[in-house]
Amino acid sequence: MAAKLLDGEALAGKIKEGLRKEIEELKGKGITPSLAAVQVGENSASRVYIRNQRRATEEMGIDYQLHELPDTTSEEELLQFIEKLNKDPAVSGVILQMPVPGQINARKVQMSISPSKDVEGMNPVNMGMLVYGQAKVAPCTARGAMELLRSSEVELKGKEVTVVGHSEIVGKPITLMLLESLMESPTPTVCHIATKDLAAHTKKADILIVAVGKAGLIKGDMIKEGAIVIDIGINRVPVLDEKGNPVLNEKGKPKRKTVGDVVFEEAVQKASYISPVPGGVGPLTTAMLLKNTVECAKAQI
Ligand code: NAD
Repeated sequence: MAAKLLDGEALAGKIKEGLRKEIEELKGKGITPSLAAVQVGENSASRVYIRNQRRATEEMGIDYQLHELPDTTSEEELLQFIEKLNKDPAVSGVILQMPVPGQINARKVQMSISPSKDVEGMNPVNMGMLVYGQAKVAPCTARGAMELLRSSEVELKGKEVTVVGHSEIVGKPITLMLLESLMESPTPTVCHIATKDLAAHTKKADILIVAVGKAGLIKGDMIKEGAIVIDIGINRVPVLDEKGNPVLNEKGKPKRKTVGDVVFEEAVQKASYISPVPGGVGPLTTAMLLKNTVECAKAQI
């Protein structure tokens, strides 16, 4: 039987509706949530993020400011700029667009964003609050994946969860979130590049969460019958015809499409619930950025 789809667009829509009400209430108290994005140098990938961020925030009535700094900006200058935003009462949240030029240590700058304006949840203070199960803001994709998982309404207590990928931005925070409740938590196993027998871990998972960035990594025979599969990976792959040849676009270049890390057509036959790519975790990442921004605005009251 084919799995039920976990519809990220629909869930993100519901979350945004709730946030809209919170934003109205904040505005009633004279506070307009605002997000300051800092872009250093020119980068086509972050242009797309910026466009999406602007659209998503403005739709919600959140102010969006874009600060474009030259690609010659030194780390010290950027740190000073962030400090200015940290002190600016008109700014609720700060986001540093990636990538930054080579002379800048991105991690160091991200850490300099005040914990109360840390809309990406990457400041060590907020990461630490995750350990205590008391985080007000948290990494957007990890938070989004958890929202999508919870939307299945399947009880987590007692379940075996395998998380594939252990990055600071996705895999590790998800694992901490899974362990948030003292008594109701499932049992997570975390796999990564050095895991010897990945399939042995994925096959025992009642819930499989994958965040790696390798198309085709998780095949149908690696999934337990009836599992919930949350696919976070984003990969651009060529579109192939029935003979396996690349399909070309009007410019004669190979056509590409976005897929996750899980072989969807196989997994959908084994799983009970599955998140598609695109349309699964992606829309929730944006919704969680908005949620974190609202949380930061509330924290500044
Ligand atoms: P990352 O490169 O920082 O981490 C990748 C992780 O995968 C590492 O923990 C690594 O050990 C593990 N890994 C690599 N090869 C493996 C293998 N063969 N077997 C098991 N584990 C392996 O990546 P990231 O930033 O965590 O992102 C992971 C994926 O999620 C990417 O495809 C990224 O595009 C996607 N992503 C999606 C969203 C979204 O909004 N949907 C947001 C962030 C990241």
